[in-house]
Amino acid sequence: MMRLNLDRSAQQVLKVLCIGSHCDDIEIGCGGTILRLAEQYPACEFHWVVFSALGVRQVEAHRAAELFAGTRLKTPVMKLFQDGFMPFMGAEVKAVFEKELKQLSPDLIFTHNSQDAHQDHRLIAGLTWNTFRDHFILEYEIPKYDGDLGRPSVFMPLDLEVCETKVRYLMQIFQSQHDKHWFKQETFLSLMRLRGMECNARSGYAEAFYCRKLVL
Ligand SMILES: [Zn+2]
Repeated sequence: MMRLNLDRSAQQVLKVLCIGSHCDDIEIGCGGTILRLAEQYPACEFHWVVFSALGVRQVEAHRAAELFAGTRLKTPVMKLFQDGFMPFMGAEVKAVFEKELKQLSPDLIFTHNSQDAHQDHRLIAGLTWNTFRDHFILEYEIPKYDGDLGRPSVFMPLDLEVCETKVRYLMQIFQSQHDKHWFKQETFLSLMRLRGMECNARSGYAEAFYCRKLVL
């Protein structure tokens, strides 16, 4: 399979916008890819927004953004929308996109999958496409009880070491999620192992994305 590279050299700034509904979505969906991009494109910068960052979860989200993006992190935007209620506050959520995100004009955007079973995730995915109409958007996946995983089309092979770092960060930082039966390192590693198999990754591991539009 021929590999495609992003249209930036290692010296050029690569502006990445990471969008998540809840604390831990970005990290679960594309944490390994963020770690790899930071290595591959040293001049990249990560803009970060989490729409439901309440209480202790906001502390965790800040810490995670700092760990994953490191010195390349631009001031993270943390909003206080209630988990599960975003579609009912659509106007306020859209205003964040219009007033705080649109002007960033990122080169690459990570957002939720439009087919995700979670209503907040779907709203954020839709607003991403509404707001950024001439941008490169990759939709990440979040494993969950609902069983909504699909057939992604873009793969980012990752070294096992990167996957292990991602999972270690997830387990260390998001202590508030440890009572969820699925929030286990096996869940995260298993999905990356399956995606690695699908793209024939040398390491055996990968993260995967849905891409609606790609310009060569
Ligand atoms: Zn979420």
